[in-house]
Amino acid sequence: MGYVFVTRRVPGRAVDLLREAGHDVTVWPEDLPPSPTALRDNLLEADAALTLVTDPVGPDLLAAAPRLRVVANMAVGYDNLDAEAAAAAGVWATNTPGVLHETTADLAFALLLAAARNLVLSDRDTRDGGWVTWSPTAFLGHDPYGSTLGIVGLGEIGRAVARCAAGFGMTVLAATRTPRTEVERELGVERVPLPELLARSDFVSIHVPYGPETEGLMGAAEFAAMKETAILVNTARGGVVDQDALVRALRAGAIGGAALDVTVPEPLPLDHPLYGFPNVTITPHIGSASHATRARMAEMAARNIIAVLAGEEPPNPVNRPPAPRPPA
Ligand code: NAP
Repeated sequence: MGYVFVTRRVPGRAVDLLREAGHDVTVWPEDLPPSPTALRDNLLEADAALTLVTDPVGPDLLAAAPRLRVVANMAVGYDNLDAEAAAAAGVWATNTPGVLHETTADLAFALLLAAARNLVLSDRDTRDGGWVTWSPTAFLGHDPYGSTLGIVGLGEIGRAVARCAAGFGMTVLAATRTPRTEVERELGVERVPLPELLARSDFVSIHVPYGPETEGLMGAAEFAAMKETAILVNTARGGVVDQDALVRALRAGAIGGAALDVTVPEPLPLDHPLYGFPNVTITPHIGSASHATRARMAEMAARNIIAVLAGEEPPNPVNRPPAPRPPA
């Protein structure tokens, strides 16, 4: 059977599933990810890797792992993994769709509410002794209820956010790449071009994958097009937002604030200007971080590995190697 390297301790039964399928499994024991050298060393003999968004997998690493047949990324986004290079090397690349969208949408909505109603700021102030009386003017926010939400990218997570918004009586706009009239009608979403979405929305929530087409999608022109009170929510990938332009927009008061689960780089260095704005909320890439969802993601990644090592196609491929590597 195969040798599987798992790049961090993962929740749920993933490792048990791999062992029950007869595979020899090594789990990287540290809290921090393996360095590129440690990753390469550990993949030298590996038939499969269970990787995370913190593990860059590119052509050099693939070439240094001659037995590798599958890289199962425990995430729906796979911009850390060069899926095309993997296919060219005969290696399957897989992700974990369909199990984390509700959890990530919950976080996007939590960030939206937190930013709208100053939750983080007021909690911090309370702990610092700032709560001296009930104040008619302190921590005034904006009402999500009855406001307009713009969703950029109406995939699994974007659609789940649209469902959350329905409960808050929001008008929901969406900028999509592929029109899906039925889905939009079912969700009560109005499809509009991005400039119109930016001009009309009180909250703009980003749900597109990161790649050459979406890098810096939210830049100076987009922030200038937003309302001065509008809040940007980003739970997609940091690179979709031009962070320097975001800092300039916040400094100029061109937008009302931002709530970010993803940044460039991650972690965001403590001296980064984004930390200096009271109207910016930052969480450490915890979109899918619920017990149940992380367990499901890890188990899904394990099942992709088990399939490939059994000579089958993986259930969740993001590439298709024309000539998959045979067992070593
Ligand atoms: P998904 O179901 O693949 O949906 C992505 C959507 O974006 C698709 O509908 C796609 O359109 C659309 N899109 C792509 N490029 C676009 C563009 N240029 N303009 C407008 N729409 C565009 O993915 P998902 O599950 O919703 O996840 C979205 C992203 O969220 C992931 O790629 C990942 O990076 C991120 N994520 C973050 C966390 C976190 O922990 N913060 C957790 C999960 C996911 P088509 O239908 O035309 O392809």
